[in-house]
Amino acid sequence: MKSIEDIFQLDSPYLLTKDQKKKMLDPYLHDLDNLHYEKCISYRKIVDAIPGGRNKQSDLYLPVRLFKNFDLRSISSDQILKTLTSSGTTSQQVSKIYIDKITAINQTKALVKIMQHYIGKNRLPMLIIDHPNVIKDRTLFSARGAGIRGLWTFGRNHTYALDNEMNVDDDAIDAFIEKFKHQKSIIFGFTFMIWKYFIQELEKQGRTIDLCNSIVFHSGGWKKLQDDAVDNETFKSKVKQLTEVSHVHNFYGMVEQVGTIYVECEKGYLHAPIFSDVKILDPATMKERPHKQSGVIAVESILPVSYPGHRLLTEDLGTVMGEDDCECGKKGKYFLIHGRLKKAEIRGCSDTYAVE
Ligand SMILES: [Zn+2]
Repeated sequence: MKSIEDIFQLDSPYLLTKDQKKKMLDPYLHDLDNLHYEKCISYRKIVDAIPGGRNKQSDLYLPVRLFKNFDLRSISSDQILKTLTSSGTTSQQVSKIYIDKITAINQTKALVKIMQHYIGKNRLPMLIIDHPNVIKDRTLFSARGAGIRGLWTFGRNHTYALDNEMNVDDDAIDAFIEKFKHQKSIIFGFTFMIWKYFIQELEKQGRTIDLCNSIVFHSGGWKKLQDDAVDNETFKSKVKQLTEVSHVHNFYGMVEQVGTIYVECEKGYLHAPIFSDVKILDPATMKERPHKQSGVIAVESILPVSYPGHRLLTEDLGTVMGEDDCECGKKGKYFLIHGRLKKAEIRGCSDTYAVE
């Protein structure tokens, strides 16, 4: 397996056009096919069982739920650096993703490249729309805590906008604004948390704040907001109305492919970075669908060396809207997400303030 260091040297993760990207990624994905076939017994059994076997291996997208049922890893136990878990309730099994040193480094480098595209190279003051205990209790809030820990390194002067009773912490926010209102800062939180505990609360109080130099990053699914008929446009316009923030970026990512997040551009589309790609499959036939047709999202990534997560089938529905020609100027595929596949097991949280 050759190093992917040359890809990290690219100036931006959104520079390569379709053919350039394919030429760059395919050899790595092919290497990962071979590596995981050799090193992961469960994965090898699955490959051998599909029609066409190894000849069709590059068409195989491993359903993410298999990480709940099997220990899928391509490293020995002494090479495990950390184990990432999805949040789960007692009635559902938890996904376990085994990370070794190389994969961890790949994940960090990819995330840095992607985030730097949006925020630049310096750490920025960070307002976290959550409460301080969220990262302390690793069992209750794993999804949210992991998300905050993941973006923590891009911030400084980390400030929580909520207190432990989930009320807006006015003093903390006022102090943050006072100190940083004239500089660029990051506001980060889960979509539902920002909406319910921050934006709706400000609105209830009839209060507006001025964070016009901030950039909002938010993630975590729209299901609960869709129940309230809140779509991305509504979300953005309310954030703008109450906080003066006009740069709002949703992003899509999953514990099975940490590092490769898909960030929303100024035109409202999620973009595939150079480290990964998306394909939309027909759920009945598993054949790739043309652009502008919806289907189940499959994701490819060149980062996972320690587990067979390089070609995955998600439980999300989406549509690729185009490739290389988004009006924002980024190359690569851009797409939209429409929610969860029906009947798919919900990857819920056990806590009251569930992410999804
Ligand atoms: Zn775009």
